[in-house]
Amino acid sequence: MHEFKFLDGELHCEDVPLRRIAEEVGTPVYIYSRRTLRDHYRKLDEAFSGLPHLICYSVKANSNLAVLSTLAAEGAGADIVSGGELFRALRVGMAADKVVYAGIGKTAEEIEYALRSRILMFNVESETELYVIDRVAGELGVKARIALRVNPDVDAGAHPYIATGLREAKFGIDIEEALSVYGHAALLPNVEVVGVHQHIGSQITSVEPFRESIAIVGELVKRLQANGTAIRFINIGGGFGIPYRQEEVPYPRDYAQALKPVLGESGCTVILEIGRMIVGNAGILATRVLYRKHTGEKGFLVVDAAMNDLIRPSLYGSYHEIVPAVKAEREEEIVDVVGPVCESGDFLARDRALSRAEPGELLAVMSAGAYSFAMSSNYNSRRRAAEVMVDGGSFVVVREREDYEDLVRGERVWVEPAGEDAASVLQPDITGGGTA
Ligand SMILES: *Cc1c(COP(=O)(O)O)cnc(C)c1O
Repeated sequence: MHEFKFLDGELHCEDVPLRRIAEEVGTPVYIYSRRTLRDHYRKLDEAFSGLPHLICYSVKANSNLAVLSTLAAEGAGADIVSGGELFRALRVGMAADKVVYAGIGKTAEEIEYALRSRILMFNVESETELYVIDRVAGELGVKARIALRVNPDVDAGAHPYIATGLREAKFGIDIEEALSVYGHAALLPNVEVVGVHQHIGSQITSVEPFRESIAIVGELVKRLQANGTAIRFINIGGGFGIPYRQEEVPYPRDYAQALKPVLGESGCTVILEIGRMIVGNAGILATRVLYRKHTGEKGFLVVDAAMNDLIRPSLYGSYHEIVPAVKAEREEEIVDVVGPVCESGDFLARDRALSRAEPGELLAVMSAGAYSFAMSSNYNSRRRAAEVMVDGGSFVVVREREDYEDLVRGERVWVEPAGEDAASVLQPDITGGGTA
């Protein structure tokens, strides 16, 4: 369910026409529905209501402070993968004891920040990381709660870039080695083993990979508990898929139903790390057509949003529905929707049937709430887009469009040191070593 609907021929976010936001804020602009965010969170929460559980929103999917604070107010915790994400979670007043920290490259500095903040636990991705956590916790005189991220070696059927549960993935600890690593962890003086973690991939559109992996994880938990390890948390990760083209995907209750037997039997608190399912269809990217263009047989719509704003089509070949924000009866045409960036890979859609759109018209790129603004960059020295949150009949700019000064923040113009000698020492030699 989402709150982007046509009313009187105009696409609205909740009760606000997109046209109004575009006129006031400009384009490209990301638009989020607060009602949708909360609805998705509540449905997920309800689905798992029979089990003790904690929903840790995956900050990397969309880390805007207004998104985080909306979810924190619903009771969500956070799944973080960097010190920067911890900073954001704490900034909105997220309870630190609802924060779990994954990622294969946590630095000692980040580990210290997390320990000082008293997060719930680390999801540990390698044995060597365990030793670093133990050392840092020892220096601070605290105990670090940990789960091991195990890799159950199941194929989640997602795009290879977002499948993480296969043996050859860089994530987690091989399920075969998990027992022995748990044994080593139990011997560390500054580490407290409290859980098992898995995250098998993203945009998974079937319950089966979860059923399979949770059966494996459930067996591991039983063996650990039999050995006297007090496993209190099973973290099933994230990855619940969403419809990008109105396809059928499981509902939260389908996941809950499939997994409840094993999870219930474990007696553990269940942690879910959900990003895309909460925020993906709670956002769109609004963009205006700049030019119509033909090269040979091909037709292009050049729009003012580009791969620096939304890289998913370029990076993963992802499909985003594109619709005109104001309905009009026009003939359909097949076009590539492309941005101004100087890369052939800069496209939002390829060979797409769209009703003919003229320069100045507003288009909505749908399902752009997750991994969209969060992955944006300043490539081509483009200012990052504004973000807007709609709540009922009103909206708030929750991130200003960047200005040119933002683009050069922290940079320096090179200034020659005074004196000829200094200059000759510091100048790079560009006269020798030619390769022509
Ligand atoms: C990205 C990520 C998630 C969230 O995945 P979604 O597909 O957005 O639900 C959860 N856990 C970990 C460890 C992740 O890296």
